Amino acid sequence: MRIILFGPPGAGKGTQAKVLSERVRLPHISTGDLLRENVKGNTSLGRQAKDFMDKGLLVLDTLVANMLEERFTRPDVKAGFILDGYPRNIAQAKTLDDMLLKLGMDIDFVVYLDTADAIIVQRLSGRQVCSSCGALYHITNMPPKAARVCDTCSAKLYQRSDDKEETVKKRLEVYKKEVTPLINYYQAQKKLYRLAGDEKPEIVLEKIIKISDTHNDSLKV
Ligand code: AMP
Repeated sequence: MRIILFGPPGAGKGTQAKVLSERVRLPHISTGDLLRENVKGNTSLGRQAKDFMDKGLLVLDTLVANMLEERFTRPDVKAGFILDGYPRNIAQAKTLDDMLLKLGMDIDFVVYLDTADAIIVQRLSGRQVCSSCGALYHITNMPPKAARVCDTCSAKLYQRSDDKEETVKKRLEVYKKEVTPLINYYQAQKKLYRLAGDEKPEIVLEKIIKISDTHNDSLKV
């Protein structure tokens, strides 16, 4: 099963994708996480991407597409994947369709987590990420047991540099410019499900699981 989670920054895509990935046993592919790994590792891609990311702008389509294409060659994607953060515009949506076609694959469904601006700003300004395992927390909505320490691996938590208020505004602006054509694109393919991203994460997760059940080939008779 191949799923796209799509929506504004702070809609809960990462949180949902991480839990969903364990529930349905499919890899979570986040282009943001892959790019951040490259920045951390100071790779050539990371060096080219860093400035765009710090400013809340999109990294060049070709760079992200090459990175994703490489990810799709790994054996764990054979069973499917949960894609988070890609596509971000129509050009990327078309690139993705072409890439998957070459691999004999197709997207099963797209979940659009529609979320109000006020919720996004509240979520992102309090978000904390584990520097080692990438687990996500929120200072009030989902606090760690000990301040700034990951519950799972005890590593230090940090605030993403692009979660600062000015960058969040820019990211939202970039997102809003591209969102309508993308919604139309997946609606035309009859693959889009719109969910309210401001509901509690457990409720959103159950709704996504219900949708995935209706697309699960192994349940077909
Ligand atoms: P995210 O973790 O999805 O919020 O992404 C963080 C940042 O990584 C974005 O603000 C972009 O700078 C970059 N990025 C992630 N995914 C993409 C993409 N599909 N296309 C271009 N840039 C991306």
